[in-house]
Amino acid sequence: MSTNDAPKPSEINLDNHPCFNKEACSTHGRIHLPVAPKCNIQCNYCNRDFDCVNESRPGVTSTILSPGQALAYLEKIMEKRDDIAVVGIAGPGDPFANAEATMETFRLVREAFPKIILCLSTNGLGLTEDYVKQLAELQVSHVTITMNGTDPEVAGKIYAWARDNTRIYRGTAAGELMIEKQLQAIRWIKQYGMIAKINSIIVPGVNDEHIPEIAKQVSGMGADIMNCIPLLPTKDTAFENLTEPDAKMRFALRLKCGDYVNQMTHCARCRADAIGKLSEPMSEDIHELIQSCSR
Ligand code: SF4
Ligand code: SF4
Repeated sequence: MSTNDAPKPSEINLDNHPCFNKEACSTHGRIHLPVAPKCNIQCNYCNRDFDCVNESRPGVTSTILSPGQALAYLEKIMEKRDDIAVVGIAGPGDPFANAEATMETFRLVREAFPKIILCLSTNGLGLTEDYVKQLAELQVSHVTITMNGTDPEVAGKIYAWARDNTRIYRGTAAGELMIEKQLQAIRWIKQYGMIAKINSIIVPGVNDEHIPEIAKQVSGMGADIMNCIPLLPTKDTAFENLTEPDAKMRFALRLKCGDYVNQMTHCARCRADAIGKLSEPMSEDIHELIQSCSR
């Protein structure tokens, strides 16, 4: 598709994104295409699990699809249902640790579905200005950056390591690298006219008191909305023995962060192959369909 053929922003109804507009939750759904298996960092809360139907959390997926398989799967889904308004790429690894597959998938989907909302979620490390420009040309409208600190010491406690090209960073150096890349990514996202969401994972005792600082900084950069997501202590991760933030901590934090930037309060902590309305669990027949498309 040439830039001239690309849909104009007005032809895509951005209000139908259920994550960004609570009112669209009961009428519109999203689909995540799991085309990005690798990651360029290791978060201390992440354990990616493939071929799983019963768990609902980021990093979990039934299978991995190539860009062509993802399009074939999407076409089958769109024949079956008329409520899918958003196609997103959110892992199970990071979209820009798998940049070729990510960009090819967006190109194929945009060509086949000119009016659908395109969305992505990344840790920001591999998101270069050139990719942001290409995303803007494809009318990818919603970009989420997960940012867990603006202080390298705090962020360094959350990332076990981060890999930039061939160099591995750990501890505070990893935190510093991630913060620099994430802030730069937010600047480009806004410069190229996209909607920027910031996800911050609330890790009790590590960054819970610091998260309002993130809100303050990103609000000054034009971030549109923030999603403070409670840690889901997950087996076989460094944070498996921490306690999940309770409602009181979540509420207090969102209230403080809300002084700076709008807060999302209805996140469902979705799988990397989530489909349908936000509350909809992965069904056996979709599990079978996606697996059949991966063969
Ligand atoms: Fe897992 Fe995402 Fe962190 Fe990568 S960026 S380690 S996929 S949570
Ligand atoms: Fe939306 Fe949250 Fe699910 Fe992402 S994880 S698709 S923001 S509800």
